[in-house]
Amino acid sequence: MPPKHIIQLDDIEIEVTPKRVKNLNIRIYPSAGRVAMSIPKRTDLEAAVDFARKKYPWIKKHLKKGAVQKTKRNRKLAYLDGEIHPVWGNEAVLAVNEVNRRPAVQYKGDQLSLMVRPESPTEKRESVLNEWYRAELKREIPKLIEKWEDPMGVNVNEFGVKRMKTRWGTCNTRAKRIWLSLELAKKDPKCLEYVVVHEMVHLHERLHNKRFYRLIDQFLPDWRERDLLLKGEKRTC
Ligand SMILES: [Zn+2]
Repeated sequence: MPPKHIIQLDDIEIEVTPKRVKNLNIRIYPSAGRVAMSIPKRTDLEAAVDFARKKYPWIKKHLKKGAVQKTKRNRKLAYLDGEIHPVWGNEAVLAVNEVNRRPAVQYKGDQLSLMVRPESPTEKRESVLNEWYRAELKREIPKLIEKWEDPMGVNVNEFGVKRMKTRWGTCNTRAKRIWLSLELAKKDPKCLEYVVVHEMVHLHERLHNKRFYRLIDQFLPDWRERDLLLKGEKRTC
């Protein structure tokens, strides 16, 4: 549905669309730099402007995140303060604390705190963060395997997490071992569950054939939506 009105709030353009909704609602698409607002059909534009003005700092903050991320995306990550790093589908802002103690990572709200010793090189910061991503996955994956083993009627003997260039997961059907990509800790948790279930379906059916899709449709009917969440990157599983 094309927007009915455009509100210009200082430097921000907001696309306003009257819809059958109860409340005014603003959506921000940081990577596209777009702000969209839906308003109840009877709400006048002035009320919409008021609402947007109240939300201005919030809109600004989230748009900025997208802008920062856009410029960083083409650059190599430096693991410095203010950099955006994805965590479980959220855009977390990195805060680096140089302290003389064991390196650690804390994730709270949308802040990712990286504690490293003073003058730690980029590679060290990167490996500390990657080990944290790995630990996040290793905490979540067993819960998912346990959740799905009974309903799916399969057993997973072993799982592992590794960096994969072209895939989200793999399954060794004979050893009943699944591997998951480290990148999944950066995606919405629904994506991890989707890939885990996908690999577990392979324990029933090795190939991506009709039977495979019938099974995944049965176990995870919304897998296509989850697949869209992963979309945008060329990986297969
Ligand atoms: Zn597969």
